[in-house]
Amino acid sequence: MAGKRGLIMGVANDHSIAWGIARTLHRHGAELAFTYQGEALGKRVTPLAASVGSDIVLPCDVEDIASVDSTFAALDARFPDGIDFIVHAIGFSDKSQLKGRYVDVTTRANFSRTMTISCFSFTEIAQRAAARMPRGGALLTLTYAGSTRVMPNYNVMGVAKAALEASVRYLATDLGPDGVRVNALSAGPMRTLAGAGIADARLMYNHQKAHAPLRRTVTLDDIGNSALYLLSDLSGGVTGEVHFVDSGYNIISMPRPAVLQA
Ligand code: NAD
Repeated sequence: MAGKRGLIMGVANDHSIAWGIARTLHRHGAELAFTYQGEALGKRVTPLAASVGSDIVLPCDVEDIASVDSTFAALDARFPDGIDFIVHAIGFSDKSQLKGRYVDVTTRANFSRTMTISCFSFTEIAQRAAARMPRGGALLTLTYAGSTRVMPNYNVMGVAKAALEASVRYLATDLGPDGVRVNALSAGPMRTLAGAGIADARLMYNHQKAHAPLRRTVTLDDIGNSALYLLSDLSGGVTGEVHFVDSGYNIISMPRPAVLQA
């Protein structure tokens, strides 16, 4: 990644998936800029960014399009020759609706807000990124298998992730002729702030550990290394993909009988 410059969106702390990706990219020579949501998180992101040699730490709330535009204007000042990649690791839903039956708990207001922040923000970022990638580039978003299969309590986030994955395919098709690749990394359950917002997250985590082919959950380094592949020239022929990094959990249909009896 030496000589490549990119923007990391979605670091909240050192457990964040975006942070796992950032530190791997840094180890491989990338030059990084970061965004944060709100001053409290800014205080956490600034020292993390400094630890990977970056003093480009910009506020960005994707719910506010003016904020997104000022982030990109500030980025232009620091990277006038453009950028090579963006990591979008942003998701939000009212946690009171990540609990119980989807049919009962989902409101129109939170459905729209979840979609705007967790899905449409990626399209708005792609619109701005593509114009800043004169040499081509790579966009990566984070998704979860609750997009295509029902996970307890994942509810409206699953619907948003389904739309996000569809967006990846449309964006990949539109931006492909300009050499901009667009992919999603589907991570297994991880202990992060966002992950903790889903009711019974611990049960999902333990279920994955018991039933995934690799018999473990995934680490920040697992995610970082796969993201490195998707953001670098190693995946130069790959676009529009949803790439699972979940210890193989997505291929399992039914738990092993021995585990069911235990
Ligand atoms: P996290 O809480 O560390 O990161 C979520 C980030 O989203 C935070 O940095 C937060 O500030 C940001 N965000 C939320 N609303 C925003 C807004 N309006 N504007 C700007 N930023 C906003 O948790 P994480 O698990 O690292 O989540 C990163 C991504 O990974 C999310 O898209 C999440 O859905 C996805 N993901 C998480 C898991 C998991 O188990 N943790 C699994 C698969 C996918």
